[in-house]
Amino acid sequence: MSRLALDDVTKVFGDGESEVVAVEDVSIDIADGEFLVLVGPSGCGKSTTLRMIAGLETVTDGEIRLGDRVLNDVKTQDRDIAMVFQSYALYPHLTAERNMSFGLEESTEMSDADISERVEEVAGMMGIVDLLDRKPGQLSGGQQQRVALGRAIVRDPEVFLMDEPLSNLDAKLRAQMRTELQQLQEQLGVTTVYVTHDQTEAMTMGDRIAVMNDGKLQQLGEPLELYHEPSNLFVAEFIGEPSMNFLHGRISGATFVGDTLNYELDDDIIAATEGVDDAVVGVRPEDIEVLPRARVGDDSGHEFEMVATVVEPMGNENIVHLSFSDDRTEDDLVAVTEEPRAVEEGSTVVVRIPPEMVHVF
Ligand code: ADP
Repeated sequence: MSRLALDDVTKVFGDGESEVVAVEDVSIDIADGEFLVLVGPSGCGKSTTLRMIAGLETVTDGEIRLGDRVLNDVKTQDRDIAMVFQSYALYPHLTAERNMSFGLEESTEMSDADISERVEEVAGMMGIVDLLDRKPGQLSGGQQQRVALGRAIVRDPEVFLMDEPLSNLDAKLRAQMRTELQQLQEQLGVTTVYVTHDQTEAMTMGDRIAVMNDGKLQQLGEPLELYHEPSNLFVAEFIGEPSMNFLHGRISGATFVGDTLNYELDDDIIAATEGVDDAVVGVRPEDIEVLPRARVGDDSGHEFEMVATVVEPMGNENIVHLSFSDDRTEDDLVAVTEEPRAVEEGSTVVVRIPPEMVHVF
């Protein structure tokens, strides 16, 4: 049973004057076999959380449990957890094979023959059988990462912890390894906690995602849940690329009175924002409709005439930067539109913001 639970976990570094609360009251229940991604900007406490699970940092407050065992005071080597680092952390003077077998030799009673067989088996899984005699210096970054992953897998741990394991790879290899890693994890069924600052990595890999900011858990949910129902402005802005548009203003009756536009809100949103004065309206770029026809927007309160100041063709879609007037240097909105509805740069367009797609914070 490899359910991993964090209960109100807090980590404070230093004391007195120079105290840093790196992680504050974080509770996450990770199911057996789940792939959980911890994501957030640099310094939000991801690595510290992972390092506490690994036993590389003490827990200031709260409890970490694996199955029925409380891990707080269990030594790193007795936790049955394998960690994969961004830097690979391979021994440069040992071959790939020895790098993979070393941990087993140290920590198990397995015979040399069994260890050898196990390393071969995992090397086959990782596609690195031909590289086993090489030392890390004779391997590419991607190959080194495979050896590092292989080293974690041979131990057959209850939990994998991964700290930005793909961030030293180039974009193409990173995308490929993302898929491979995910398939491997599913195949092995090992509970995994994966740290990244990259929301794309989080969205594509995680069964669930824990978004952190400033040491605190902001939201925990499935990728599409975070995308469609972000629980606060931070999550709304962090998840999704390009980022969600935000309009600042206030709510007056059924109307959002913004700095740049007035917008008619849907009934259910109005009900949910009862009593809210200052409000931020959010809409995802891909939810905005850009109509290139030269016609006047209707009076529904959802359509606006804007200037498409910059159009970035991305192949299968365009990123359209929109302003309320020609001379605006800052975007009022950014939209993503699919071909063939090409929009001409500098033209006036009608922009529709569907009311059911709007978030109010
Ligand atoms: P992330 O992995 O999200 O980039 P970290 O967990 O590394 O964030 O850091 C969280 C906060 O804790 C940061 O403010 C960082 O400066 C601080 N921190 C991390 N390790 C230490 C340490 N050993 N001593 C003091 N402060 C630390």
